[in-house]
Amino acid sequence: MHCPCSNTNQLNYGTEVMQVSVDEIRGEGLVLDNTYSPEDLPVLAQLQNEGVVKEFSPVACHVRLHKVAQLIEVNGSAEVTVRMECSRCLEEHWDEIKVEFHQSYVEQLPEVKDEDGSEVELSAEQMGLEIFDGEAIDLCDEIQQQIVLALPQRPLCSKKCKGLCSACGANLNTGECSCSDGNISIHFAALRDFKVEK
Ligand SMILES: [Zn+2]
Ligand SMILES: [Zn+2]
Repeated sequence: MHCPCSNTNQLNYGTEVMQVSVDEIRGEGLVLDNTYSPEDLPVLAQLQNEGVVKEFSPVACHVRLHKVAQLIEVNGSAEVTVRMECSRCLEEHWDEIKVEFHQSYVEQLPEVKDEDGSEVELSAEQMGLEIFDGEAIDLCDEIQQQIVLALPQRPLCSKKCKGLCSACGANLNTGECSCSDGNISIHFAALRDFKVEK
């Protein structure tokens, strides 16, 4: 058993740092400026393993937590750069992703009554609330969910990306391929002329 006397106010900046104990949130609230390794965010780590995202930079987070009556209000922002393959030219490039989030946590859902005074059954989601155990808030889910939602569906190295030539596969951003002047490559044309002369 963990002795409560050994609990200190010092935040643990290890992998547990995304667990914020409610006791640490006082008066003006608690502000956390942390940089997390993508390996500590399981959904990001999985996307990286699957190659959907080639690489995540460390995730810089600024989070403010405060108590409002029975609610714990969380406001935060996260910044990360991701290395992804361009959906047109397949070149890898870095994209900057910035997200902001807001979430309210409660230990128990409040009772909601309609005009007749009868109880209305509403889910946490319908109330815009997240239920937690009353002891610690886990920031991990919210942070990684926001980042995943912000990932481009069709990543582009640039809005002007010209993509690949459908005939020879050349990257058209680096110059025109020979397909554009006469549907035949220079090497192939030279070979044909050679054969004719012979
Ligand atoms: Zn591209
Ligand atoms: Zn071509």
